[in-house]
Amino acid sequence: MTRPLSNRTQNIAASLTVAIDTLAKQMIAEGKDVVSLGAGEPDFATPEPIRTAACKAINEGKTRYTAPVGILEVRKAVCEKLLRDNGLHYKPEQIIMTSGAKHAVFNALAALINPGDEVIIPAPYWVTYPELVKWLGGSPIFIQGLRENDFKITANQLEAACTERTKAILLNNPCNPTGSVYSREELASLVKVIIAKDLYCISDEVYEYFVYNKEFVSAAAFEGMEERTIVVNGFSKSHCMTGWRIGYDAAPESIAKIIGKIQGQATHHPSNVAQYAALGALGMGMSEVEKMRAAFLKRRNYMLERTARILKTPAKAPDGAFYLFAPVNDFYGKKTPDGKTINGSVELCQYLLESEGLAIVPGAAFGDDTCVRFSYAASDDMLQKACDRFERGLNKLI
Ligand code: GLU
Repeated sequence: MTRPLSNRTQNIAASLTVAIDTLAKQMIAEGKDVVSLGAGEPDFATPEPIRTAACKAINEGKTRYTAPVGILEVRKAVCEKLLRDNGLHYKPEQIIMTSGAKHAVFNALAALINPGDEVIIPAPYWVTYPELVKWLGGSPIFIQGLRENDFKITANQLEAACTERTKAILLNNPCNPTGSVYSREELASLVKVIIAKDLYCISDEVYEYFVYNKEFVSAAAFEGMEERTIVVNGFSKSHCMTGWRIGYDAAPESIAKIIGKIQGQATHHPSNVAQYAALGALGMGMSEVEKMRAAFLKRRNYMLERTARILKTPAKAPDGAFYLFAPVNDFYGKKTPDGKTINGSVELCQYLLESEGLAIVPGAAFGDDTCVRFSYAASDDMLQKACDRFERGLNKLI
């Protein structure tokens, strides 16, 4: 065939987090000795009440189509969660169950973006955001969160980045990859600009439960925000349900209707069984999540301590999520034992994978080539091995 394929699709990059995870898993399956801190995928099993709820659903024949927006009982439970944890008042008609939080981001953008619209994305950002904006014909506009400000953007920066064409801001709080968490005051100052400029806000809150010694506040919790915010969340991280692909959008009713229409045409609905599993997650209490948060905090401190001994510039302590975004640019310009010069984060990660069997993600994927990202949602043993390999690999550079 010679006829051209979709330009919009050809102009987007493949997800590097997904590519590295896939490659590492393939290498492990081939019997290679690889330690992967690539994808953010909790190492714990999906908790028992969730698995039981899913088995029960299968045995009771909950295996047929559901409504495009999902099962009413599950959407009601999501509303209860949003009220209990975030003080947000949603009706079930405003909730759309999705095939994971990534799909919920896609839905939100698909409902909002016209070709040429600008979407503000604070950088460093999660790999997927700019590509989805481009895919839908929009333009990603990056605002650099400065390291001195814990990689967070300020209201002044936001105001300066807005143009006539700015349609929305895509906030990720807590942030993947930096672990930054916006305080209530910081969010309040951003909210003033969002409202003054009449922007929509897509607030990806998938790491909300993994915040260390800080308060989590939803962007939708401020006066005037519920009507312009689409809250994105999911169960992959909080309930170790990565492979189940289940999440949701919580949106103003008019936007929720559009998302329901999109979903009815595109995927019909997320898996019926996964929706019942999510219902199990919503009803099981928070003790498992608390245990995970405590484990991640210990692991975060271990990673901080180990990498501080290896790096010339120590990583900043992430206040949330489960990633360490570590500066490695002090090593750029050095040579590998076989004479290749390391010029950036992609080359460094490639070298570490090939020579040490360590899979981590280049900062370039997140819009910051000075850093690499470690996921510390892995066992203590894996983290120790990863740090040993990181240290050995860097020590070999000359
Ligand atoms: N969200 C996780 C990560 O950033 C999983 C992979 C992906 O979807 O990007 O590693």
